[in-house]
Amino acid sequence: MSYQSVNPNDGKTLKTFDEISDKQLEKAIATAAACFETWRHKSYAERAAIVAKAGALMEAQADALSRTMTLEMGKRTGEAHGEVAFSARILAYYAKNAERFLAPQKLHPTHGEAHMESSPIGVIFCVEPWNFPYYQLARIAGPHLMAGNVLMVKHAGIVPQCAIAFEKLWIEAGAPVGLYTNLLISHEQSDRVVADPRIKGVALTGSVAAGKSIAARAGKSLKVSSMELGGSDAFIVLDDADLEPTVKWAVWGRMYNAGQTCCAAKRFIVSEKVADKFLEKFQAALGALKAGDPLDEKTTLGPLSTESALVDLLKQVDGAVAHGARLVMGGKRIDRPGSFMQPTILTDIKPGNPAFRQEFFGPVALFFRVKDEEEAIALANDSDFGLGGSVFTKDLARGKRVASRVETGMMFINNIDWSDAELPFGGIKDSGYGRELGDMGIQQFVNKKLVRTVSMAAPA
Ligand code: NAP
Repeated sequence: MSYQSVNPNDGKTLKTFDEISDKQLEKAIATAAACFETWRHKSYAERAAIVAKAGALMEAQADALSRTMTLEMGKRTGEAHGEVAFSARILAYYAKNAERFLAPQKLHPTHGEAHMESSPIGVIFCVEPWNFPYYQLARIAGPHLMAGNVLMVKHAGIVPQCAIAFEKLWIEAGAPVGLYTNLLISHEQSDRVVADPRIKGVALTGSVAAGKSIAARAGKSLKVSSMELGGSDAFIVLDDADLEPTVKWAVWGRMYNAGQTCCAAKRFIVSEKVADKFLEKFQAALGALKAGDPLDEKTTLGPLSTESALVDLLKQVDGAVAHGARLVMGGKRIDRPGSFMQPTILTDIKPGNPAFRQEFFGPVALFFRVKDEEEAIALANDSDFGLGGSVFTKDLARGKRVASRVETGMMFINNIDWSDAELPFGGIKDSGYGRELGDMGIQQFVNKKLVRTVSMAAPA
């Protein structure tokens, strides 16, 4: 039984689900492949009617959807409502803009006329993580369904109720059978889906290990893929930063979703001129967070997604300390029921310490002091990851200069890495490849076909 819904606020099991049989999986793939043959020929308006309806249903069912998310993975209720609203916006955004994004593009060759046209490629298999149980799904469903593709989705084992609730939205929105299929399947079944010739593209959001495994399998069958993996974003504070708003962003950037965000601020790289002041204010702000039931609006610190996530993170912090890091605060579980961890700051993390290169997926901030801008950039780039990052300064030209030199897929000046339906999201290095959201997000799984007309005789 690998699909289990357990409330991390109290450790109680809510529901368990069996994986589907191989026979059921075969039927689901055949149904999706058949659905593609009709869906691919639907007009944008026809597709938009269903995608927009699913978005509207999300809004209408926001309370129930948010509650399921909070119960299954511990997201605080305010954040859960925010995620549902944002997911609905993403669906509406693609319903409105897909036709424009995929319109034929005129080219200008030396002879004749030419254009590029976009067409869907087929059934796309997506593997998604639990940390944003609906947003991750909206981020693939909006663009790829509007492009005329069909989706089969393996969601994370700990959020089966969210996965099922999202699938239900499509049924209620009037989607043809097989347009969006949630798959409760094992990793081994997932490998077979990746290799199945009826699957034409593979998208994964998750850990580097999962990315390497799935990308390799997709590559073996020459399938186009996109990988949205982990990150260890730098939060650079230059000597002229305005510390009041900077510390507020630091807290939000590290603690949003109890710190379990791929593009969270994870490495705080602070100019030595302001380091003591920043650290003092940051520590005070983190210390003021109140652990509690994530369904209670007053709670400012929710649990981690599972007990094992907490145990692993505690071990990771202990490992960092064993290799010479110093705990400025926290580092322990909170003495109350549920999987809660103290907000934690580690410092003195030297390059030989394994923690220097690891992603800390929870409320743990790595703090570094640097001499100047050059040292900040060098340290930010000394990472296997390259997802996002931010820089804080009163001098916007300086901020842009630093942002240009940090090797990541996204940089933010005087705010933290967060996403918008309109803006492409994704990274480089071990953070993966490909982009989701914005115009780029819909181009990932379409055939960009060249059509050229030339009225001339063939050369002799
Ligand atoms: P994970 O273990 O890789 O799980 C993510 C998804 O992959 C789950 O559905 C999981 O299924 C599945 N999976 C894992 N190994 C698999 C395999 N060998 N074959 C088939 N499916 C497999 O990741 P996580 O630890 O839950 O999620 C956190 C990670 O995701 C972090 O590193 C975070 O930074 C990253 N993330 C990245 C982004 C981004 O956009 N760049 C966004 C969110 C999260 P099971 O649950 O059934 O194992």
